[in-house]
Amino acid sequence: MRATRFFISTLKEAPADAEIISHKLMMRAGMIKRLGSGIYNYMPMGLRVIRKVEAIVREEMNRAGAVEMLMPVVQPAELWQETGRWQKYGAELMRIKDRHGRDFIIQPTSEEVITDVARSDIKSYRQLPINFYHIQTKFRDERRPRFGLMRGREFTMKDAYSFDRDVESMKKSYAIMFDAYVRIFQRFGLQFRAVAADNGAIGGTGSHEFHVIADTGEDDLVYCPTSDYAANIEAAEALPLASERPTPTQAMTKVSTPGTVKCEQVAELLGIGLQQNVKSLVFAVDGNEEGSVKKQLWLLLLRADHELNEIKMQKVPGLANARMATEEEIIEWFGTEPGYLGPIGAKKALNIVADRTVANMSDFVCGANEANFHLTGVNWERDLPLPAIADLRNVQAGDPSPDGKGVLAIQRGIEVGHVFQLGTNYSEAMKATYLDENGKPQLLQMGCYGIGITRILGAAIEQNFDDKGIVWPTSLAPFEVVICPMGYDRSEQVKAETESLYSALVAAGVDVILDDRGERPGAMFADWELIGVPHRVVIGDRGLKEGKLEYQGRRDTEATAVVVADMVEFIK
Ligand code: ATP
Ligand code: MG
Ligand code: MG
Ligand code: MG
Repeated sequence: MRATRFFISTLKEAPADAEIISHKLMMRAGMIKRLGSGIYNYMPMGLRVIRKVEAIVREEMNRAGAVEMLMPVVQPAELWQETGRWQKYGAELMRIKDRHGRDFIIQPTSEEVITDVARSDIKSYRQLPINFYHIQTKFRDERRPRFGLMRGREFTMKDAYSFDRDVESMKKSYAIMFDAYVRIFQRFGLQFRAVAADNGAIGGTGSHEFHVIADTGEDDLVYCPTSDYAANIEAAEALPLASERPTPTQAMTKVSTPGTVKCEQVAELLGIGLQQNVKSLVFAVDGNEEGSVKKQLWLLLLRADHELNEIKMQKVPGLANARMATEEEIIEWFGTEPGYLGPIGAKKALNIVADRTVANMSDFVCGANEANFHLTGVNWERDLPLPAIADLRNVQAGDPSPDGKGVLAIQRGIEVGHVFQLGTNYSEAMKATYLDENGKPQLLQMGCYGIGITRILGAAIEQNFDDKGIVWPTSLAPFEVVICPMGYDRSEQVKAETESLYSALVAAGVDVILDDRGERPGAMFADWELIGVPHRVVIGDRGLKEGKLEYQGRRDTEATAVVVADMVEFIK
């Protein structure tokens, strides 16, 4: 590629709405251009990076045995009504009508469509397992689009969907995808971490997120450096919308004696509850409660999440602003005898909602005056302001790891990938079955696997920049090498050596750009440092007199003189 035939458009200053470094640098480097809130043009320079991300993802998905297809961006509402997500997905789902007044959506994800394909085209166990993927535009009407490509409304995702005959085989498909993700993020050259995660609104039995480690990440990760324990403490973004919150059918509200209780006892109680297959558990501590109680409960939740991954959990950080239920409300909502509840409206309260009775709740023994919190119920249907984020994120570095194998550390991460075991959530709702060996219909076991293609660009930059600009890992860079000739139009020798090196690199399969714009050296270097090309070769009369060219890696502080004939080898 020659710079004069490409499109380079750099800026000295980032626009005022760019808050974080990746957004600023992508704007300044001319990689993206804003069209509307959370909607961007991918400019030629940025698109090259997107294509590199896609190529790596595609290669590794194919290697892992997934097959590529392409599902439509616009999808009929009927499918989403079948699974109930037409109602449940909430305001993030972009709904549109066609000229006949029929409802459609712009896809935020494609479980419904792929399940529709599966129910009509997968007939026999002989066709299983199968894993379909596509790389396609998504639209989510995010509450707060921000940080450029990091949280756009329109973005590109790779999403894959596996179909298996039973749980065991589904878990194998999941493990294959997990391993493929590890290879993908290794090839990106990024520092990342896989963590146990919440299934959230997508549902299912277990999930992991892949995070690029960066201080500007929106998620807090806890992990144990001396074991493989790692989990996400969900940030406020992941809070379920009011309509997605679980409807309580049974409150765990029975305490043997009204009064105050100790943290350990509540922890123990929760432990008992969890082992009894509580399907969804929501708890929170009143904002007045100080660190230790919250910390302990939180740790317990993480432990349960980790060890009992069949449990579906709903984490709700912070209820600082939620008022306590009154005794009358509790009775009305849950039909519980007031005698069980103890004093309601205590300052420090623990709210638990479970969808199954926990029989040995009465094993719970009240203790002395320690934490002064009480078990009660919360009605999510009518509840209340969105909680502040910080409240339940009180796990601290140095706390014991829930697996007992060391102490916890905390770091921030950017969620770039998410893999889910879906089980039969979708196949059941949409009646997607296959025929087993005996000719009997069985529900398909599903998994789904997402990677935020465009978010990767932002995440990679958050991890790789300096005061001059972006420092792309070679595998993602828009160009691997830039040739900067000094006096391309003045010196015959410079021109000849430049053309010869350029041809040699092209022939060697190196992704090279020749800066033939005739810019001053300072301006030229500043552009390529901002854009973040990993290797630069400077060709000038002075060096050529000694038969040498100048090489400088993007992170090098000094240039290295390299003999002309050795340059291609040197770069490769
Ligand atoms: P987040 O927690 O950041 O809102 P999510 O959990 O809603 O993400 P998933 O439904 O798990 O996202 O989608 C799979 C992947 O798609 C995410 O891991 C992320 O990389 C990417 N992604 C999700 N939302 C966006 C967005 N608004 N802009 C860019 N990429 C996104
Ligand atoms: Mg998330
Ligand atoms: Mg989201
Ligand atoms: Mg996710």
